[in-house]
Amino acid sequence: ALSGIRGKVVALTGASSGIGEATAIHLATQGAHLVLGARREARLQAVVDRITAQGGSAVGVIVDVTRRDDLKRLTDAALDRFGRLDVLVSNAGTMAVSPFDELRQDDWDSMVATHITGLLNGIGAALPIFRQQRSGHFVNVASTAAYIVKSPQAVYAATKTAVKVLTEGLRQEAGPDLRVTLVSPGFTNTEGVGKGASPETATAMIKQRDEIAMPPSAIASAIGYAIEQPDGIDVSEVVVRPTVQS
Ligand code: NDP
Repeated sequence: ALSGIRGKVVALTGASSGIGEATAIHLATQGAHLVLGARREARLQAVVDRITAQGGSAVGVIVDVTRRDDLKRLTDAALDRFGRLDVLVSNAGTMAVSPFDELRQDDWDSMVATHITGLLNGIGAALPIFRQQRSGHFVNVASTAAYIVKSPQAVYAATKTAVKVLTEGLRQEAGPDLRVTLVSPGFTNTEGVGKGASPETATAMIKQRDEIAMPPSAIASAIGYAIEQPDGIDVSEVVVRPTVQS
């Protein structure tokens, strides 16, 4: 297997903005081949074009992570285009937080589907490939909300706690050939903060983001750090937060 980042084939979900976009660009700059998934075609293509214009290697695949077949198409694209899959970064997510009393049940369902079913769809698509190659790396993006619940983020925190638990279980079953990493960001400056949240909550989140958030490059480099380790070294868990975040 390859060591370092150069030449590795990395599939990444949620690549059309924020942390995913920053990670794609960081890894492409280091010489990885990117297979990028998200739902918004124009935004995704813009990221692919930016990487390509800088001399990097990237392809985009329209992916809704809640759909099992879409994750399969993402990993198949890696095999078709680059002949292998070294890393799957499961980053797609939605922070549609709201108080329980608002009964935003569609948002609850969407967080469960995106973070839990979405992660499982990625495991289902990539694990057989990694087993056959006898090498592979899962990088799963959770949140500091997986460590501490703050109202009104309970549903979001529960789904991110599930990401943490699934990642630890996967790591225990991975065996010596596979690596499994959990990356948990604190407040990060992306368009996703407050998006889909109830209006009052969104206003508070955006205010906090503008006051304390760190740039998405902070998470991109943490993901790069996990990927660039020599074979046999697993960065199991990383939490990155702004110093001013409690
Ligand atoms: P963004 O909204 O900027 O990015 C979210 C990405 O996920 C977009 O590319 C979006 O693309 C994609 N996405 C959402 N739902 C789906 C879906 N069903 N299928 C495929 N792609 C999907 O926000 P962030 O960059 O901040 O979020 C990235 C991850 O980081 C999330 O998991 C989030 O929970 C986590 N996180 C963020 C923090 C922050 O403060 N920003 C803190 C802790 C964790 P598209 O809409 O085109 O599909």
